[in-house]
Amino acid sequence: MDLTLSPDEETLKEKAKAFAERFLFPHEEELEMAGHLPAETLARLRQAVVDHDFNAINHSREDGGQGLSIFGQTLVNEELGKATNGLWAIVWHPAYPLRFGTSAQKREYLIPSCEGRRRGSFAITEPGAGSDPRLVQTRADRRGGKYYLSGEKWFVTTGDYSDYLIVHAHVDGDADKPTLFLVDKALPGVRIKRVPKFMHTYVFEHPEFVFDEVELDEGSRLGEVGQGFELTKDWFVEARLQIAANCLGAAIRAADTANRYASERVQFGRPIRDFQAIEFMLADMAVEIMAAKSLVYRVAWEIDRGIDRKLIHARASAVKLHASEMAGRVIDKALQILGGRGYMRENPVERLYRDIRVDRIWEGTSEIQRAIIAGQIKKRGLTAYTGWV
Ligand SMILES: Cc1cc2nc3c(=O)[nH]c(=O)nc-3n(C[C@H](O)[C@H](O)[C@H](O)COP(=O)(O)OP(=O)(O)OC[C@H]3O[C@@H](n4cnc5c(N)ncnc54)[C@H](O)[C@@H]3O)c2cc1C
Repeated sequence: MDLTLSPDEETLKEKAKAFAERFLFPHEEELEMAGHLPAETLARLRQAVVDHDFNAINHSREDGGQGLSIFGQTLVNEELGKATNGLWAIVWHPAYPLRFGTSAQKREYLIPSCEGRRRGSFAITEPGAGSDPRLVQTRADRRGGKYYLSGEKWFVTTGDYSDYLIVHAHVDGDADKPTLFLVDKALPGVRIKRVPKFMHTYVFEHPEFVFDEVELDEGSRLGEVGQGFELTKDWFVEARLQIAANCLGAAIRAADTANRYASERVQFGRPIRDFQAIEFMLADMAVEIMAAKSLVYRVAWEIDRGIDRKLIHARASAVKLHASEMAGRVIDKALQILGGRGYMRENPVERLYRDIRVDRIWEGTSEIQRAIIAGQIKKRGLTAYTGWV
């Protein structure tokens, strides 16, 4: 077994690191203090993403993306995850299920999204449906060869900036017919109800949407009637791996910051790293990151080698659970080492502390990941996690 990065992988990782440091880090404090970035800055950054070939790293070249392997995407997402305030979201990853669209849908949605001319958001969650999407109330009623979409979606990430949404709805209100629809925001009957504020400062918003009898034709349906869960599951695998890689980057940046500070900061006549209490925290942080990195890289590598799709789903949950919880522990220690400075919003560690909290909630809470893992253990045995296949 050879675990060394190839020269191409090293180059890719370095390029992503340089991109984050040159284009994302300089906007962190401005975004934190103002709460948003000006439209001209967003446009300039969008162009930089294209110029550096980071647009749609998760889609094929023929669809306008970069066609990176899952392992390659992981290396990039780790570096981007070092940026605070969700600035990594500047680098778009069009939703995975778009690749299962018809050729007309690919022309209208996927390709322009990969190229940065359009942007979409995924809308599943509702006031009454979070962890249990079977409780979704948004319905798409079939009448006269059309669908009429009605309902409400919450927490639609980037919904302020996107121009279309992928909406998870039940056809004719039937929970056995979960289906995805491509919904242009400009259509009559689509409106933003509220733009709530959250714990993190994020480069985009997470608005609530209302759909009132939005008329959609057959060409707006992504996949078959009833295929909504299956397509969403694929999205979850990709999103969970991305979160895990971002968390890894966040933890590494926080640990680096704390490690440097521990050498520079002198109290009681010596650098604080000379106190065992501080050095033991740094030791625990390093080991936590090492373990998480080994897990994230391993699963990304396995996916590229084509392991069974069900195992991929099972392990993506483990990766997301472990990396998000690890980042919470590591960043908490980093903040402690920085003392009062770690509590200042101008400090990246303070921002990472808030940023990372949502990673234990979105794309399936930690409890839901544990439930998936426990279910897999029951079905496949412990070796699904403890074995080496
Ligand atoms: C900032 C942000 C952005 C988001 N972006 C999007 C987005 O773009 N699109 C989208 O569709 N959604 C989005 N979400 C929604 C997110 O995916 C949900 O918040 C998440 O799935 C949890 O749902 P919930 O908040 O309704 O919590 P609930 O499902 O109500 O859960 C509440 C608590 O109960 C626990 N719980 C629930 N069921 C079980 C169980 N079976 N066993 C044990 N514990 C359980 C949960 O783990 C949690 O602790 C976003 C959320 C946030 C905060």
